[in-house]
Amino acid sequence: MTFDYDLFVIGGGSGGVRAARIAAGEHGARVGLAEESRMGGTCVIRGCVPKKLMIFAAQAAQMADEMRGYGWCHAETGPFDWHFFREKLDEELNRLERAYTHNAEKSGVEIHHQRARLVDHHTVELADGSRKTAKHILIAVGGRPARIGIPGEELGLISDDLFLLEDLPRRALLVGGGFIACEFATILNGLGVDTMQAYRGDAVLRGFDREMREMASLQIQQLGVDLRLGLSPTRLEKDAGRIATHFDDGTVEHFDAVFFATGRQPYSWDLGLENTGVHRKESGAIEVDEWSQSSVPSIFAVGDVTNRVNLTPVAIREGHAFADTVFGGRARKVDHSLIASAVYLRPHELATIGLTEEQARLRGAADVYSAVFRPMRSMFAGLDARTLMKLLVDPETDKVLGCHIFGPDAGEMIQLAAIPITMGATKADFDATMAVHPTAAEELVTMRHPVRRIREETDPGAV
Ligand code: NDP
Repeated sequence: MTFDYDLFVIGGGSGGVRAARIAAGEHGARVGLAEESRMGGTCVIRGCVPKKLMIFAAQAAQMADEMRGYGWCHAETGPFDWHFFREKLDEELNRLERAYTHNAEKSGVEIHHQRARLVDHHTVELADGSRKTAKHILIAVGGRPARIGIPGEELGLISDDLFLLEDLPRRALLVGGGFIACEFATILNGLGVDTMQAYRGDAVLRGFDREMREMASLQIQQLGVDLRLGLSPTRLEKDAGRIATHFDDGTVEHFDAVFFATGRQPYSWDLGLENTGVHRKESGAIEVDEWSQSSVPSIFAVGDVTNRVNLTPVAIREGHAFADTVFGGRARKVDHSLIASAVYLRPHELATIGLTEEQARLRGAADVYSAVFRPMRSMFAGLDARTLMKLLVDPETDKVLGCHIFGPDAGEMIQLAAIPITMGATKADFDATMAVHPTAAEELVTMRHPVRRIREETDPGAV
């Protein structure tokens, strides 16, 4: 049987574009790709990229505070001009979208700017009714924000909407305590919005190291975000042009905007999967094996639609490995066991790789090395921000099991610390590394004694 393409990719985001470009550009496959929205996907258009630019914008007031501490006694930011920023942001996202399209086309990928649905194991139907056949189909459609099922929640917004606001709200509520809620609360607060964050748990960022979560919760509060822990909304209703939000403690607050940052779900509905017999999990995630192959041999899936580790670099790596394996004759799997990540809070970021102290305790014994200090830059300026660095080390093998950093540029630091840790570095390797002085990162190689040893299921005891 002859096919129109060797590969048809559904979804022009990070994972799909990488797979398409490698398959076509490096391995000579005939590749078609369908994208119903904008090329670049969540990360580029409505996620990591615009979010990071907004974080930079939101830092300005804090930079002015710091500058006054250094003698620029009149440093002031004045009011933030959202319209100016949005116009520039739109231009930048248009530029990136063009670059994504151009690079894919330059590699030989034929792009269809419309929605595609599966018809059978080798056929997709585009929104204009035309059909394309392919030997292999890759589903890389990502995820979509999820709400929580309370009355009136349609009055609320989701993360995608932040980047499209005509005007900034005067008072906003963020619901959730995960990556997006914490980053967005930090951003809105920095841009001058009166911001409340309601999270049902007792410290934000569940799943991260407990000490780090507490530092993050404290920093969010110190910034001026009204962080309410142990609180969830139960109902939203319109009230004189605002949104009256009822909470589970019986209180009611009014906001100009309510954002649900309550997780994301695989975007696997209305894809025609029922025509193919591709298995899905209860969450809607497409079930794949370690080769990203679904229960139907010709259909593969990468990225958030598989709900493995929902991060851009992971989707990219999965897409690349798929293309090398299927079209490059080079079998490659992705190791999901050790992946660094960062939450872009302000002024300190939270970045991590490996086991948390709580996870290490379940595994067995571990030595905890940690350093808490005030970084010289903010201390001189008279600011009270504290940095925390922590290493978890296996006392038997000396291997570094986890590294956690709460501090300025923690995301940059963890990227570098991730290299030796991925290579299996020991604490002795860290100790043998000469410090770079004066930096904050040098603390990672100068922690000499453990502050405690934790043991399986026991409370931490002093060493
Ligand atoms: P997360 O899974 O990180 O957080 C979801 C939050 O919503 C949690 O605090 C969760 O609470 C809360 N929640 C879920 N259901 C309910 C409910 N019914 N009622 C009240 N609260 C609820 O998802 P995000 O939406 O923040 O982010 C989605 C994904 O995007 C992340 O997992 C991450 O992979 C990715 N991302 C990565 C970023 C980065 O790398 N810097 C930045 C932004 C997103 P609980 O913890 O109690 O379950």
